Amino acid sequence: MHVRPYHSARSNAPHVFHEDDDCPAGRNLAWFDKVEGTEGCEPCPQCVRTAATRPEHPVGATH
Ligand SMILES: [Zn+2]
Repeated sequence: MHVRPYHSARSNAPHVFHEDDDCPAGRNLAWFDKVEGTEGCEPCPQCVRTAATRPEHPVGATH
């Protein structure tokens, strides 16, 4: 399911943010390692793909 963007708090983690709580990479992050936001991060390719194929999340929806 689509969630607010989050990323790892670790400086040595991949600099990507996730927008889906079903993302395998996102699920690997521990609760204490999640920071809300997209600062300094690229969109996670897996999350982008998931969002693109999700019918209930049409392009142009409010962010
Ligand atoms: Zn992701």
